[in-house]
Amino acid sequence: MADIIRLLPDHVANQIAAGEVVQRPASVVKELLENAIDAKATEIKLIVKEAGKTLIHVIDNGFGMSETDARLSFERHATSKIQAAEDLFNLNTKGFRGEALASIAAIAHVELQTKKEADELGTRIKIEGSKLITQEVITTPTGTSIAVKNLFYNIPARRNFLKSDAVELRHIIDEFQRVALAHPDIGFVLYHNGNELFNLPKSNYRQRIVNILGGKTNEKLVPIQEDTDIVKISGFVGKPEFAKKSRNEQFFFVNNRFIKSPYLHHAINAAFEGLLKEKMQPSYFIYLEVHPETIDINIHPTKTEIKFDDEHSLYAMLRATVKHSLGQFNIAPVLDFDR
Ligand code: ADP
Ligand code: MG
Repeated sequence: MADIIRLLPDHVANQIAAGEVVQRPASVVKELLENAIDAKATEIKLIVKEAGKTLIHVIDNGFGMSETDARLSFERHATSKIQAAEDLFNLNTKGFRGEALASIAAIAHVELQTKKEADELGTRIKIEGSKLITQEVITTPTGTSIAVKNLFYNIPARRNFLKSDAVELRHIIDEFQRVALAHPDIGFVLYHNGNELFNLPKSNYRQRIVNILGGKTNEKLVPIQEDTDIVKISGFVGKPEFAKKSRNEQFFFVNNRFIKSPYLHHAINAAFEGLLKEKMQPSYFIYLEVHPETIDINIHPTKTEIKFDDEHSLYAMLRATVKHSLGQFNIAPVLDFDR
């Protein structure tokens, strides 16, 4: 019998990888914003049209790319962020998989413009479905602009699977807010269909939260703070009387990366025990700083789940810190003498 195994062509491999990295327009937003942050941008502009279905455009003033790097950035497993497997345990960047641009370019029309500070001229690249259409020399400001058009144009099943504009835009705003909350020292703007939805000037953590969630938020924030050998905890929890039914004001960041952690969420709930009415949810914006070698981020392509070396200590410290801060603000369980 003849042999039947063959290596997939690159564009097919890229399209398969894209299925993991790019679930919806919001996934593209996350990847492009993270790349801009890794490029040390201080101002980042996000422009979307039709909830990202027709356009997702990110413009940054970061360090840009050389002509060769610009071309290479679309290759799979091409990254400037790590060189060896050991580097995975000492990550200071959001990215490291070298998959995002290759994946995105496999399933959309992409136009990249970029220039480094030291270069006089920049470069423009157009790619469609992994295929290089043009690369040319242009004049452009230092930094990078990436426009992703017609996402999933070559995968009708995925395109048809997208939800309404309202739902997809909600996901985009969620990603945008998570990134903006993690980086108050960077200015962000978001336009949708020509309307400015957010304009967030550089500021501090508290001000950034208030700018995103509205002026009334300020009075409800209780600061939390704790420094130990294994973790630095900072951020805010909402006073119990401001608790809401929805869970949309619950944020954990680890080394300035938004993460989901049912386990740590439980620690916060435990700290609020006796303070909240049934079904009410605490608000929290919690920033954890840990040694990069004590966490593993590489357990899922979207990197929103993390494995901590010492989860139990973290849980205990978080609960104690939040409890202590709530106590300092004279918030203690109400004693009900009638029972
Ligand atoms: P990763 O971020 O995991 O390295 P990506 O596919 O997202 O992989 O990007 C590939 C490479 O392209 C990055 O490592 C970086 O060198 C370069 N790059 C991507 N976006 C930008 C940007 N906005 N500014 C400067 N360089 C960028
Ligand atoms: Mg990236």
